[in-house]
Amino acid sequence: MSPPSVDTIAAVASAQGRGGVGVIRVSGSDIEALIRKILGKLPSARNASFSNFLDESGDIIDRGIALYFPAPHSYTGENVLELQGHGGPAVLQMLLQRCLDLGARLAQPGEFTRRAFLNGKLDLAQAESVADLIEANSTEAARSAMRSLCGEFSNTVHRLVDELTHLRMLVEAMLDFPEEEAAVDNIERRETLLSNLQSYLKHTLETAKQGSLLREGAQVAIAGQPNVGKSSLLNRLAGEDLALVSTVPGTTRDVIRQAIQIHGVPLHIMDTAGLRDSCDEIENMGIALTHQTLRRADLILLLLDASQGMTVQDEAIVKDLPADIPRLLVLNKSDLLHGKVPVLQEAGKAVLVSAKTGEGIEELRDRLLEAVGWRDQEGGVFIARERHLRALTQAQTHLVQAGAVLTQAELFAEELRLAQRALSEVTGEFTSDDLLGEIFSRFCIGK
Ligand code: GDP
Repeated sequence: MSPPSVDTIAAVASAQGRGGVGVIRVSGSDIEALIRKILGKLPSARNASFSNFLDESGDIIDRGIALYFPAPHSYTGENVLELQGHGGPAVLQMLLQRCLDLGARLAQPGEFTRRAFLNGKLDLAQAESVADLIEANSTEAARSAMRSLCGEFSNTVHRLVDELTHLRMLVEAMLDFPEEEAAVDNIERRETLLSNLQSYLKHTLETAKQGSLLREGAQVAIAGQPNVGKSSLLNRLAGEDLALVSTVPGTTRDVIRQAIQIHGVPLHIMDTAGLRDSCDEIENMGIALTHQTLRRADLILLLLDASQGMTVQDEAIVKDLPADIPRLLVLNKSDLLHGKVPVLQEAGKAVLVSAKTGEGIEELRDRLLEAVGWRDQEGGVFIARERHLRALTQAQTHLVQAGAVLTQAELFAEELRLAQRALSEVTGEFTSDDLLGEIFSRFCIGK
């Protein structure tokens, strides 16, 4: 079935600035006239043709490769023209203007991919992974985005939906033919199928959480007394001199953030003002900000001076830390111990490091990853977003509720229906226009 008639959109699809090649992309129902005017001919479908790109008086704007993809065999599912010319901003702007003069309008961010989604070329999770692939900052994130784009995540969700549908059919058959013996039988099968479904969904959610961690990263706040070496540790982890290091307590007054990557997982490390009682108004503002930052963190890295152990001041800090946020205890300045073991009850669980010499930093990196919930997944993870986690969690809640009403077929069927609906939000079968607008507006123009 050909897609409904749509207007023509055009954009520069290559990155801003100068490059060897620049790409203009055009998509719409009716682009043949535009193609003939720019190229002087209609190139054969899906073949690279070397061509002049002409202005309205027939003068050459640029020359390069023209690719014509008639619908439906194109990225958007519509008729698509791609012009690969020289990658200079002025020449690309002239070519784009030529397309606009010929009736195209400037594409909105993500509009090509939105059209691909609306024309069934990609589902929503795949469309999102296009943006994630472009934004990926590490090999691991790029690989995971590619897995999602190839449909690994969507296929998992489809399998869950298929199993749910099977279970729903069973219950609905039971509602139609409620003989007593069959009913008992039916309940046992229902229970087994539901429990299989629950464990498969649990596994999917765990993998998706890893994918989301790879995409969004985790917020790690370093907390501790002034002078324990918070800024030095941040610098050591970041591998560059970022925060100001000084021997005067109270130097770090605002929150300094640095994104680092450990095995491709982004960690947003926040160096906070040292926590202590102070008469300095500005320092106190820094300390108040620290408390706010700590409450928002996914993990608190509590830093102590290994040569001092847990002091009364450290105990006061620990008492004030938000109780529900996981902590990792790190003892710094191991170089000052000169081989002695730090005197501390929790020393066994702590990581011993020296921000000065770099000792223990590799172990700290591993322990940080473990503490934010990263697990090495066999077969790799697919990239996922907060939105997907919410939908999967919602489906999980409905399956738990279904378990509670196992013997009440109508209520059971309703919970299954709601679980299925939540799952379908991942792939976009049930998605509001507002949500689509929000998702695609974050794309770059030309994608
Ligand atoms: P912050 O106030 O907690 O941010 O501490 P800084 O990073 O500014 O460090 C305070 C002082 O401790 C500076 O003189 C650092 O050079 C020193 N320092 C930091 N880490 C270490 C370490 O591992 N060993 C030693 N010997 N000194 C350190």
